[in-house]
This record gives sequence, C-alpha cells and structure tokens, in this order.
Amino acid sequence: MNARTAELIERLSREHALSEADYRALIEARDDESAALLAEKAVAVRHEIYGDAVFIRGLIEISNICKNDCLYCGIRRSNANAQRYRLTPEQIIACAAEGHALGFRTFVLQGGEDAWFTDAILCEIIGEIKRRFPDCAVTLSLGERSRDSYKRLFDAGVDRYLLRHETADPDHYARLHPASMSFDNRMRCLYDLRAIGYQVGCGFMVGSPFQTSAALAKDLKFIEDFRPDMCGIGPFIPHHDTPFRDRLAGTLEETLYLLSIIRLIHPPVLLPATTALGTIHPEGREKGLLAGANVVMPNLSPVQVRKQYELYDNKICTGDESAQCRRCLEARVERVGYRVVTDRGDVKKSPSKAQQ
Ligand code: SAH
Repeated sequence: MNARTAELIERLSREHALSEADYRALIEARDDESAALLAEKAVAVRHEIYGDAVFIRGLIEISNICKNDCLYCGIRRSNANAQRYRLTPEQIIACAAEGHALGFRTFVLQGGEDAWFTDAILCEIIGEIKRRFPDCAVTLSLGERSRDSYKRLFDAGVDRYLLRHETADPDHYARLHPASMSFDNRMRCLYDLRAIGYQVGCGFMVGSPFQTSAALAKDLKFIEDFRPDMCGIGPFIPHHDTPFRDRLAGTLEETLYLLSIIRLIHPPVLLPATTALGTIHPEGREKGLLAGANVVMPNLSPVQVRKQYELYDNKICTGDESAQCRRCLEARVERVGYRVVTDRGDVKKSPSKAQQ
C-alpha cells in the first residue's frame, strides 16, 4: 500500500466521501494491506453504531416468474429451462408464520416481476402478515413498479424496499439488460420509494460482465449521494442458462473490499453478507461480517421451491429447512464473535451530511 492509498483511506473514514476519481484510484489500489486497513476501520465504525449486533432477515422467494430478461439472471424470461413456480398467498403467510416462530422480525418477500402479484393481492398478503405479526417489518424486493403501486404497498404497511440499482453507469446498465429495460426507470423507482417514505436499499453485483473500476467508482459515488438505508452487494456468479454462462464470477476479495468502503461511506447502512458471497467461498458470509457487513438473510422459502429460485449456479442453502438455515447462520455469526439480534433492526439514522 503506498502513501497515497493510505491517505485516501484516512480521508474516506474521516469525511465519508471521495471524488469519483479517488474512488477509482482506491479500487485500483486494492492489495492485502489496503483491504486489511479498510476492514479494520469499517469494523470499528460499525461497532460504534451497532456494537456486535447482526440482524437477520427471513427471505421468502415468492415467485421465479419474471417478465424481464436481464442478461445475468437465471430466472430471466428467455430461460426456457427454468422450472417456474409461484407461491400462493397461503404459502407465503405460512413461511412468515414459521419464520416468526423461529424469531424472525423482518420478512423479505422477493421475486421476479410476476404480474400475478397485483397491488390488490400483495396488499392482502401484507395486511395479513401485519395483522398476525404486528411486531414485524415487511420488506419487498419485487422489482420495478409504478409510483402509485409503491404508494399503495406502503400504505398497506410495507416498511422497506430492496431494489438494487445494478450499476450506476448507464452504458454498463445497457450491456447487462435488454433494450426494453431502462436505467432511468430503475433510478426513478429508487427516488420514488425514498419520497414515499420507505427505507430503501440499492446495490450491485461485483465483477459483473463489462464492469470497470470507473463504473464501480460511479456506484460508490451514487451510494454516497443517495445514502441508502440498505445496500446489497454480492459477487456476480454466472448461470449456465444465460448469455453470461462463460463469464468469470466476481471475487471474494473485491467484494469484501467494497463492503468495507461502503461501510465507511455511509456508516449506519444495513449491509448484508449475501448468499452469493457464501456461494463463492464456504466462509464468505463470515468474512463479509469481518469486512463490515451486519445483516444475514436466511432462507425461509419452502424447501421444494428453493432450487428453482436459481439466479446463479450452485446457490447454497437450497436443501435446508428454515430452522436449519436459521441455526446454521446463527452459529456462523457467533463463530466470528458477533451476536444475532431478533428485533426489527431498523437503520440507525445518522446526522445529515451537512452536520457531519
Ligand atoms: N426482480 C427483483 C429481484 C431480483 S433478484 C428486482 O428486480 O429487484 C435480486 C438480485 O439478485 C438482483 O438485483 C441481482 O443483483 C442479483 N442477481 C441476479 N442474477 C445474479 C447472478 N447471476 N449473480 C449474482 N447475483 C445475481
């Protein structure tokens, strides 16, 4: 690590901001020493805000039917080999009930963009979950919808929405998605969600095809400006039935490095150690926590559909019952010295940038 890199890391941890050119220089300067220094600072600042708490979110994968054709995704519309499924409202509520009994207080309903889940149907499901489990937060991760739709879902009780921006570089976005999808609409969604009052999560894949350090620098600048409540990042992993089947996966090291940087950019952010990180390395999620992450998301989907929600190859945790997933992740969290907390785990609001 040279003096310039050390100075960038010092400045980032002091000011929580860098220029786009400096983010790029920091990304390009990654080595073991700079990664260790970033992780040390990231863990320290997370400890100040959250202590040794790690939040768990129960993930319910409600449908793998999708109208979109994202080039990287295993459940893209063009993948005729995907065995499609859709959970019934009763199944979704049963997953939440099982999760509640296991101590979960946040449920994340994620799925492809499946038009069967109209606002009316989703509002009923959300209403029922909120009635039965009033101490729980509900998070949706169902892709792009209209502002009116987001508003109706919010009014039905949804607390949070995860919508990875995927890349903050419009040219890169166009190489990952078909022409029918638009960067501007995805960004519009994030700003609408924020304006409506949701806690909002953005994020991106690390090592996706055509990603450059300049594009990653834009992602970091976007995160600095948008200040998301949550930020999901994980390595890109190829899926054998997509156009990116022969691409290389993102690396553990780069993902950990970016987790630490994101923690320093926005200290209170809720940052998951993702399933994709656990897929590229057997201790990927533990390493994620040690780099600055503070959320894990055990799978609560019915075991019989888990393999079908295959965004990428070799996804882990597809054979375990929810209770096993919960116990396994708790043991992993404790092994690296942290503690699973079962409250809703809302983001800690930080003073505004101007006050820092
Ligand atoms: N339809 C929802 C949920 C998408 S799946 C939406 O549009 O938000 C959740 C995330 O999985 C995506 O945002 C993407 O970043 C990630 N993902 C998809 N394919 C992947 C792959 N091949 N490797 C790693 N992550 C992938």
